[in-house]
Amino acid sequence: FDQLDGEIWFNGEFVAWKDAKIHVLTHGLHYASAVFEGERAYGGEVFKLRAHTDRLIESGRILGFKVPYTADEIDAATNELLSRQGLSDAYVRPIAWRGSEMMGVSAQNNRINVAIASWQWPSYFDPEQKMKGIRLDLAQYRRPDPMTAPSKSKAAGLYMICTISKHAAEAKGYADALMLDWRGRVAEATGANVFFVKDGVIHTPTADCFLDGITRRTVIDLAKRRGIEVVERAIMPEELSGFSECFLTGTAAEVTPVSEIADWRFTPGAISKRLVDDYADEVMPKRAAAE
Ligand code: PMP
Repeated sequence: FDQLDGEIWFNGEFVAWKDAKIHVLTHGLHYASAVFEGERAYGGEVFKLRAHTDRLIESGRILGFKVPYTADEIDAATNELLSRQGLSDAYVRPIAWRGSEMMGVSAQNNRINVAIASWQWPSYFDPEQKMKGIRLDLAQYRRPDPMTAPSKSKAAGLYMICTISKHAAEAKGYADALMLDWRGRVAEATGANVFFVKDGVIHTPTADCFLDGITRRTVIDLAKRRGIEVVERAIMPEELSGFSECFLTGTAAEVTPVSEIADWRFTPGAISKRLVDDYADEVMPKRAAAE
């Protein structure tokens, strides 16, 4: 992935994609002092760009560092990158990390670097394909207690257990894994939030130890706009047999129905379909009223 053509925004400049390199003694690599975002552009516009940029800056603050650019500067860089790359439907990956000036757990004076990369990612709105649902395994690892890890930061270090869990699930033929939290409650998938449906009501775990995703909040609003009740609460795995539908939400996942989690079965249905469609409408750039 490091040999593509094009450019990457790197500490305020556009550099050739292949030249956007860092040293092996980078603190972010050794000690996971890195935070990132996952964004998606539809028709040339990043959906909820400012919310993602604000979360990037806040994630850094939680890890004890200040992203050395304002939200306006980061947004402008993102938009310029998309236009220089000639991208319309794309994934955008900003990342901020401590550099290589000092080596050791403490790196108070290391530079905070920022880069933004973007690549083509066609919007995937084949509702029929999506409505088949994906299969999830149950992950071995659990989301940590917020007293153990900075759960509200989209910090690289928190993804170690996600990659392990996702690889283990994929090795067994599943698309992803559902993670419980440290109390044994249902938490989220490895890179997306989870929702369930029972008797026309949506239930989703309270986001008290994992990311309260930007897509999660969007989908909750869309459901409420349709008059569908949404309950945020503690959900135990034993309850999964009582839900009829299940779906994931995330910038990359959008709204993705789930057909299985380990031995539990779900039938993607009317509420999932409604939200798949409503989310697709929501992310499309609003065209000029005249059109
Ligand atoms: N949880 C995790 C672990 C994630 O990586 C993501 C994707 N950023 C989400 C939830 C969903 O967040 P969002 O809707 O903001 O993309």
